[in-house]
Amino acid sequence: MNDEIEVVDLSGSWAGNLHILRPVAPHYRSGCRRWRVMCFCGLGTEVDEAGLLDGSITDCGCRASDKVA
Ligand SMILES: [Zn+2]
Repeated sequence: MNDEIEVVDLSGSWAGNLHILRPVAPHYRSGCRRWRVMCFCGLGTEVDEAGLLDGSITDCGCRASDKVA
């Protein structure tokens, strides 16, 4: 049995160039759940759920500089 973790079902979906794999242990102190993701560039990382939901995170950071404009 899991703890009372309310998980938004993002597993298997995409956020821009990020394939969302699975939730990571929540950081309740910061109020941010995090997700394990795999970027299209092949780099796995963890990102804040809020960034995935609001569309502000679409990659691991490898293309971030391209999106300034
Ligand atoms: Zn990347």
